Amino acid sequence: MVIEMSRKIPEEIVNEVRAQNDIVEVISEYVQLTRRGRNYFGLCPFHEEKTPSFSVEQEKQLFHCFGCGKGGNVFTFIQEIEQINYVDAIQLLAKRVDLELPSIRTDRPSYSKEAEQVFVAYDWLVKFYQHLLKYSEHGKEALKYLQKRGITEETIDRFQLGFSPHDSDLTVQFLQQKQFPLPFLVKHRLLNTTDQERHVDPFRGRIVFPIENLHGKSVAFGGRALGDEQPKYLNSPEHQLFHKAQILYNFGNARAHIRKLNEVIVFEGYLDVLAAHQAKIPNVVATLGTALSEKQAQLLKQTAKTVILCYDGDEAGLTASFEAGQLLNKQKVDVRIARLPDGLDPDDYLRKYGSESFRREIIEVSDPYITFFMHYKKRAYNMSVDHERIRYIEDMAKQLARLDSLIEREFYAKELAKEFEVSEQVIIQDIEQYREKISNDKKDNRTYNRNTNIHIDNSTKPFVPAYLQAEKRLIAHMISYPHLIERVQTEIGIHFNEPIHQVIVTHLYGLYEESNSIDVSELVDKVNDEQIKNVITNLAMLDTNEELNEMEINDYIRRIKSESTDKARLRELKQKQKLEKNPILAAEIGMKIIELKKQMKSL
Ligand SMILES: [Zn+2]
Repeated sequence: MVIEMSRKIPEEIVNEVRAQNDIVEVISEYVQLTRRGRNYFGLCPFHEEKTPSFSVEQEKQLFHCFGCGKGGNVFTFIQEIEQINYVDAIQLLAKRVDLELPSIRTDRPSYSKEAEQVFVAYDWLVKFYQHLLKYSEHGKEALKYLQKRGITEETIDRFQLGFSPHDSDLTVQFLQQKQFPLPFLVKHRLLNTTDQERHVDPFRGRIVFPIENLHGKSVAFGGRALGDEQPKYLNSPEHQLFHKAQILYNFGNARAHIRKLNEVIVFEGYLDVLAAHQAKIPNVVATLGTALSEKQAQLLKQTAKTVILCYDGDEAGLTASFEAGQLLNKQKVDVRIARLPDGLDPDDYLRKYGSESFRREIIEVSDPYITFFMHYKKRAYNMSVDHERIRYIEDMAKQLARLDSLIEREFYAKELAKEFEVSEQVIIQDIEQYREKISNDKKDNRTYNRNTNIHIDNSTKPFVPAYLQAEKRLIAHMISYPHLIERVQTEIGIHFNEPIHQVIVTHLYGLYEESNSIDVSELVDKVNDEQIKNVITNLAMLDTNEELNEMEINDYIRRIKSESTDKARLRELKQKQKLEKNPILAAEIGMKIIELKKQMKSL
């Protein structure tokens, strides 16, 4: 167990950054939170779940997940979610509230040295390509093309669009001038090698769209051909720092808007995102030329309640919508499918009809997934044959069974009944049967999970010894009613029975001596060990009584003390027993030990 005070950044500055970044506001930028009583709840971003067990308490400035056990203060949250270190988390939050930090030297950057170099190389290349597009003869045709498609200069700057020269040597020379070794550039996919062992720019002759990771660092490019070259679109191949399935184009820029609107529009193309940006529709992202992945679905789910898929209006677009919809639907996201007129993509539509029409005619009237599903599936059956029609209706009943709302289930059942001239009652019965089956499957799953949990993790055992329970409750009360701390310090000192509790109370005593109050969030910062942080937040978020109950506190103290004195007495007796030469006396000691153990158990 390592206990360490936060070093490097002066404590009063850390406190200032913490004070200015309200935990509910910060977490809301990542997780959809709903208020319930004095706490806020949401779906945990750190483990997969369907019902919210992630809770945030404003008063104590803490978060805790009852599902996976993660918890801490605002810094811990940022560290976890952004996957950065403590110092970087402080810097990020300082920047968030425009607080100037004294320059800090950190000896532990959050990315490896090599990764930092990769970011620098991509940054240089972004600037190089952009310069060529905007100011050089090389990029003239590309610039004209973008202008013809209505892309403004502001958009070009905002999305850092560029042009990669037809002549690869220009790119290679540029990067070499910047002192990047060729093997490094190939490894991280900035350059390709040919059979003749020449180095070439993979995007030569294309308009390039820098792709940023979730922390806003460019890690790849998308390239669009100017003429008829195939493929029309090309992405950087994956490398150590670039995984297509984990990134959404424009997510970094859009995240705050998505959260605010509680809705996100997903496109397939980079140009769709640009067109939406120009139409002042900010809550948009795009997949990177691949089908929506599980990870991307999770990312969307964590940020918005409603996901609107707005793919091209052709056959491929329909299939992609269907598949992405299935994935999101399984995760209980409210999915809608936007329908574009035949052959148009969102970019075309926006240019032709403008943003007002896009909002009114496409987004606002987008179909609930189930409606889309019914239409989509219909095409797979031959409706002029009886048994095909029946199979279709059964297929639909199965899907409708997944809807949580009874009103919705009945609404669609009625539609189906009308369309196929069958009894509504029969369809509803079918649906309810499927529902029963789903809920039975779920129950089986739950029992299984519970059993395996107990098996893996002893801490979830239902039985908690009374003295441990007393220690937990007492610490929770010490946090809620700091004036208790002095008394506990005199009566128990650090003689708590659980080692983690010993560490925690030591910190509590120290903090109380310093400031005569307890700021749990500050306490979390003083501890370096992640497990202890989690225990602290867990304890701090236990419900304590509205008013202090003296009797209850006395009882806790008594239990803790007697457990520790009993334990000490037990040790003493065992020692004595070992040393006793006289067998009769030794047996007497043995009896005493048994009695003491019995007594401890019954407590
Ligand atoms: Zn969790």
